[in-house]
Amino acid sequence: MRRKLVAGNWKMNGSLQANRILLEEVKSKLQVNNCEVVVCPPAPYLQQCQAILAGTAIGWGAQDISMHAAGAFTGEVSAEMLRDFDCSYVIVGHSERRSYHAEHDEQVAKKVVRALANRLTPIVCVGETLPHREAGMTAEIVSAQIEAVLGQISPEQVADIIVAYEPVWAIGTGKTATPEMAQEIHALLRRKIAEKNAGAAASVRILYGGSVKPDNAEELFFMPDIDGGLIGGASLKANEFLAIIHAV
Ligand code: 13P
Repeated sequence: MRRKLVAGNWKMNGSLQANRILLEEVKSKLQVNNCEVVVCPPAPYLQQCQAILAGTAIGWGAQDISMHAAGAFTGEVSAEMLRDFDCSYVIVGHSERRSYHAEHDEQVAKKVVRALANRLTPIVCVGETLPHREAGMTAEIVSAQIEAVLGQISPEQVADIIVAYEPVWAIGTGKTATPEMAQEIHALLRRKIAEKNAGAAASVRILYGGSVKPDNAEELFFMPDIDGGLIGGASLKANEFLAIIHAV
């Protein structure tokens, strides 16, 4: 039985003051259910999240990591640094990194390897653009994206990743994949994982992301292969984030 996970990707939003208000409200109103909760703030706020969330049921992680261990890589943040702030998770290969920073599958795979080597759970994002979907290429695109990562890790390590299916056309647009559309791709991703490690496929969590809101979370999370959500905009509003968590 896979435990559901709801992770908030704050993207480039927040401030010391706004974060404190948001996290205190989420902390105080969170009802214990069988859902794991994670927030991924911008890197400068990891220490603040650590201070506010340590000892609570809420975990934290980063939005990206460098594929390098250390050295002359101006602006980058290493996996080791994230460990310094007790991060448990890191989002890797988000479509905004892929499109605005030209990250390709090979770099994404290297980042996953680096995360795993540092005991960080990578949340590996895959997803097709609208032209890809309209051209009937969704399965081909997401298969290539997940296979690039699976090809660089051992069968044992497969059990230590989380996958997020985020159709690019659904991110921040208010357009959500229907539960059936998402389920189809989640099942495909699970079959791909099974090809690498049949045992792990049953335990690897596959999240859906893209305009998840309180009013569509329940039907999405109800699908057999949807194990929770990666939430953008709605994770910045305590009441919406909590409603999504409580929809589990
Ligand atoms: P929205 O929930 O704002 O559509 O963003 C989804 C996302 O990109 C999460 O990583």
